[in-house]
Amino acid sequence: MRVIQKYGGSSVATIDLIRGVAKRAISAKNEGHEVVVVLSAMKGETDRLLHLAHSMHPDPEPREMDNILSTGEQVSIGLFALACQAMGEKVKSFLGFQAGVKTDDIHGRARVTDLDPARIRTELAKGRVVCVAGFQGVDRHGDITTLGRGGSDTTAVALAIALKADLCEIFTDVDGIYTTDPHICSNARKMDRISYEEMLELASLGAKVMEIRSVELAMNYGVQIHVRHAHSQATGTLILKEDSEMEKTPVRGVTLSVNEARVTLLKVPDQPGVAARIISLVAKAGIVVDMIIQNRSFSADHASTKLTDFSFTVPLTDYPKTIELMEATGHEIGAESVLGDDNIAKVSLVGVGMRNHAGVASLMFQALAKENINLSMISTSEIKISCVIEKKYGELAVRALHDAFELDKPIA
Ligand code: ASP
Ligand code: MG
Repeated sequence: MRVIQKYGGSSVATIDLIRGVAKRAISAKNEGHEVVVVLSAMKGETDRLLHLAHSMHPDPEPREMDNILSTGEQVSIGLFALACQAMGEKVKSFLGFQAGVKTDDIHGRARVTDLDPARIRTELAKGRVVCVAGFQGVDRHGDITTLGRGGSDTTAVALAIALKADLCEIFTDVDGIYTTDPHICSNARKMDRISYEEMLELASLGAKVMEIRSVELAMNYGVQIHVRHAHSQATGTLILKEDSEMEKTPVRGVTLSVNEARVTLLKVPDQPGVAARIISLVAKAGIVVDMIIQNRSFSADHASTKLTDFSFTVPLTDYPKTIELMEATGHEIGAESVLGDDNIAKVSLVGVGMRNHAGVASLMFQALAKENINLSMISTSEIKISCVIEKKYGELAVRALHDAFELDKPIA
């Protein structure tokens, strides 16, 4: 079999850990597999490099930034190769450009456009372990690019596609994907299998185990991913195409996000174009809006006033900027005043089974009501329901929902 093994920063954080990773790769090879290892930078290294760059310049040029950030992975693969050699193993390490990873030229968030694995194939044919620096590639100008935070996962999936690998293993510091955060809910359960779509929702709701783009790429090419613990032999979680087994349960995971804030414009005119103006102002500032709620009172008393409240949520980091923007322009739009609330949490249910199960929202609202938790915003998609609540109830809400939907019981 041809195997891709990706190890994250925490799995290569020290010399000893890198030795351990090398042993694991070598034992896979000794079982008769062709092994391509993808490494992240040593834990904390990318943050350290980011900090260095910002100490030198308040607004570092993205091209230079990539020259700096890409060095973290370069060190990891060199050390890994030395570890293998010290154990008498034949190995060759490659930087992104040497491994044929071609990207567009959007520094800091480059997309892989092509991967020519000729050199990797040659080395595998010579019986070597191959190790590739994650998170980096080269653009058409010959400049080094990076793929965005967590981008080594994408390197691994792109290699799995280009090399038609039989297995793509993502080794990390957790045993797999859980029904919810085990730090919040002690009976959270590791899932054996999860669909690409569920994983995408969980990742965009803040589960940090897998980088979003890598899951999208895997979904588009049907690459099955095995997320597992780097220091355990136990099977982890398979990320794969959804099947009928998964659809049998309506809800498969609960997430909590405390990184959003709500902005409300009070009493804006209820007429065409108002929502467009508000949201385009926010978008122009590069701020990504998540939930949007607008609902004027339809009662006869209010009908004549033609006013409505308009609320939306933004990432917490963009909250001060958004409030500033709305305060500056709100009156032009016709708002009476601007309110903000950064004391919120978003709790969400995810599951492909929601498509064909009724009553998920009603059980969710009941479970939250039982804990006396008030819902201030609600949004739904095909496989997700999210509620905004007061921040202090966030963890309680997760536990209440995990219990209500019996997510501790083993399923598919
Ligand atoms: N080293 C990069 C980061 O910390 C890429 C990765 O680890 O996947 O984001
Ligand atoms: Mg990662």
